[in-house]
Amino acid sequence: MRVLLVEDDPDISRQLKQALADSGYAVDHAADGEEAHFLGDTEPYDVVVLDLGLPKIDGVSVLERWRRAGKTTPVLILTARGAWSDKVSGFDAGADDYLTKPFHTEELLARLRALLRRAAGHATPSLSCGGLRLDPRAARASVNGEPLRLTSLEYRLLHYMMMHQGRVISRTELVEHLYDQDFDRDSNTIEVFVGRLRKKIGPDRIETVRGLGYRLTPLPGEPTEG
Ligand code: CA
Repeated sequence: MRVLLVEDDPDISRQLKQALADSGYAVDHAADGEEAHFLGDTEPYDVVVLDLGLPKIDGVSVLERWRRAGKTTPVLILTARGAWSDKVSGFDAGADDYLTKPFHTEELLARLRALLRRAAGHATPSLSCGGLRLDPRAARASVNGEPLRLTSLEYRLLHYMMMHQGRVISRTELVEHLYDQDFDRDSNTIEVFVGRLRKKIGPDRIETVRGLGYRLTPLPGEPTEG
């Protein structure tokens, strides 16, 4: 899962960037409204954290522009304490959730998980696909009850595929959702990660659909998510 963090306060930015990375997200950071608008317009994020008080272009205007352009990415806005009118204009502009500063990082992470879950149409916090289980709250996964030891990129890959299980996902889509913008994005590396993941979760759960991409499905006889 890839998140765009828009925040001009260097301390909050540093702290959130670290917390998001520790939770398994690929993170891009923008410190002003202009850069935020550009990134949100050109990169396919799974979720956005948007501070409203920003240099160059304010957060509400950035959000309005994205929504006018048809971007439906879930957006959580950060508002200043007591500025209730910010919340109103934020929601009117198309925000999905908000937090008032100061807030606990844990609450932000929980709200992002809920937004991602809703966006993908999942009702429960943990994901399952046959014998595979993944709990985004703990950033842990298991297969048939055995804990999996995954690198952060393997975890992101599995998380994304479990969110979109049953659908064919192209290499390009995986590259766009697993790596932040500073990463050397070679879609061939995806094959390497898929190969490693197959070694850990069993070779048959991820199907290669020739020319199109990959599809994660339960093994025959295993229950689907429910
Ligand atoms: Ca600010």
